[in-house]
Amino acid sequence: MARYTGPSCRICRREGDKLFLKGDRCYTEKCAMDRRGYPPGEHGQSRRRKQSEYGLQLREKQKTRRIYGVMEDQFHRYYEQATRRKGVTGELLLQSLERRLDNVVYRFGLASSRTEARQMVRHGHFHVNGRKTDIPSYEVREGDVIELKQGSRQLPRFQEMAEMAATRGIVEWLDMDWENYRGTVVRLPNREDIDIPVKEHLIVEMYSR
Ligand code: SF4
Repeated sequence: MARYTGPSCRICRREGDKLFLKGDRCYTEKCAMDRRGYPPGEHGQSRRRKQSEYGLQLREKQKTRRIYGVMEDQFHRYYEQATRRKGVTGELLLQSLERRLDNVVYRFGLASSRTEARQMVRHGHFHVNGRKTDIPSYEVREGDVIELKQGSRQLPRFQEMAEMAATRGIVEWLDMDWENYRGTVVRLPNREDIDIPVKEHLIVEMYSR
């Protein structure tokens, strides 16, 4: 399945929720969900039909997949992986998605969206435990050290993001040393750390059909 390349705001409108896909713009009055919070398309403004149980489960899966920018096959692999691990499958699924390197860079505050973070990782701006890592899906582990490479620290975009992030604070499972642009995975995230608006049990129900 090809990657979706259309307008990000259309996805939010389709899912009926702010998914924060466009970085800074999502926090301004230009946000399409604030201006036109109804589904896109000719009949978007007419009343929505009641969704079937499957429809609800499908929407929840699509929403989660789109928040993390993961393709269908890859998302299914995350699910399969979660079923093989000990614990609550839905939570383990979200934990795996949170552990992606692009998401961690976003959580550090070095990118305004996961899409931007993915691009930064692909361009080789980061080292993990001292080794250049340009794979957005790299799954971080407890104790991993993620560092912005020396040559990238002077780039205006990173300086600007660091200034903003240093005042905003950071999620509890990560720590950041802004002087050295060095972040650490203090522990793996649990469900309370993951602030995305999805009902993961519906995804599990859908795949278990
Ligand atoms: Fe979604 Fe609003 Fe951000 Fe567009 S600007 S991606 S509608 S949250």
